[in-house]
Amino acid sequence: MKDKEIEKLIKAEVVRQSEGLEMIPSENHTSTDVLKALGCRLTDKYSEGYPGMRYYGGCEVVDAVENLARDRAKKLFGTTHANVQPYSGSPANQAVYFALLDPGDTVMGMDLYFGGHMTHGLKVNFSGKWFNSVLYQTGKDGYLDYEAMAKMAVKEKPKMIIAGATVYPRIFDWEKLKAIADSVGAWFLADVSHIAGLIVAGEHPSPVGLADVVMTTTHKTLRGPRGAILLCNGKESTPLKKVERQRENLPTLIDRAIIPGLQGGPHNHQTAAIAVALNEAAQPAFKTYGQQVVKNAKTLANELTNRGYNLVTGGTDNHLMLIDLSSKGVLGAEAEKALGKAGITVNKNTVPFDPRPPFSPSGIRLGTPALTTRGMKEAEMVQVAGWIDQAITHSADDKILNKLSIEIKAFCKQYPLPA
Ligand SMILES: *Cc1c(COP(=O)(O)O)cnc(C)c1O
Repeated sequence: MKDKEIEKLIKAEVVRQSEGLEMIPSENHTSTDVLKALGCRLTDKYSEGYPGMRYYGGCEVVDAVENLARDRAKKLFGTTHANVQPYSGSPANQAVYFALLDPGDTVMGMDLYFGGHMTHGLKVNFSGKWFNSVLYQTGKDGYLDYEAMAKMAVKEKPKMIIAGATVYPRIFDWEKLKAIADSVGAWFLADVSHIAGLIVAGEHPSPVGLADVVMTTTHKTLRGPRGAILLCNGKESTPLKKVERQRENLPTLIDRAIIPGLQGGPHNHQTAAIAVALNEAAQPAFKTYGQQVVKNAKTLANELTNRGYNLVTGGTDNHLMLIDLSSKGVLGAEAEKALGKAGITVNKNTVPFDPRPPFSPSGIRLGTPALTTRGMKEAEMVQVAGWIDQAITHSADDKILNKLSIEIKAFCKQYPLPA
């Protein structure tokens, strides 16, 4: 690379990722094939529109790329339609609002401080500013409270209900959520950004066939490049023709919301990399991967519980866990910092009904997707739990944290990033 300043930083990031344990549950390590697709000439090409109907010439090749990505997405998730153009998860959610709602309409989403995403109606987000958002919380036990949600829906009459989370360690009951949406005639958006890889692996039920629209990011458990996919069923899309807001027209409504509604040219290198990741996710090895992600999370959760940690809902069904550290007398931010010094990357997080403010919450969130990609299994999770416990117990002792970081660095050499 001629740009030595950036080259040095890229190398430094690779070293950081290699020598430490990435335990932020929304992160993963992509394959070199995905990286190759991301760093290729497809990025040079403009192609506003959809395959076969572009506003630019020279789109024969990118048409084939996008068709492949769409076909693979439809096959993997079992829908008749897929839009692979969203730049990332947040714009993909924005497109669903644009497709199905008008400004000022009521939407019902999960409160950010209970595990929802900003785009599910947070008041400082577009979804809470341009729409009338009403936010549901979990019960005291950290589980979704479907009865309270059903009551809220009847009272608020939302036009759309969003389910899905950035921090929810349990299974979503899609049937119950669909029944709640149906009871008030609301659209139902399932945001499976975090769990898409687990759905593909058969480790979490799929909302396809129940939710009107399914949105997933492609870079979390699905292990692809940054990006997102919108999935739905209905009549074949006619992006050049305006249609009514009816269920059968969802493919057209979604496509028209992405362009001309919200975005310009698709990122063709990103589309190619998504196609590569979807093909990888369709292989038998990915099923094994998804199963191991969950086994690892359950092992880690048990080990931490045995060491006296208080896990929200008492454990996990998926790839992540939320730890309430208040009984340990350590703040989330302190734990995040101490673990960081030891070489374990996590993030501080609010816990349900957190008495502390969001910028200094009581908990931390951690997960197993990235470590599992590196080949770690249950035995390694036992070891990792021990390190986490030591780092949190000695969060003010830099000497111990430094010793841990040396141990962890040596351990990580056995588990290289995908080659
Ligand atoms: C990550 C995530 C998003 C947004 O994805 P970005 O690509 O970061 O914009 C949306 N919803 C949920 C539930 C997520 O976890």
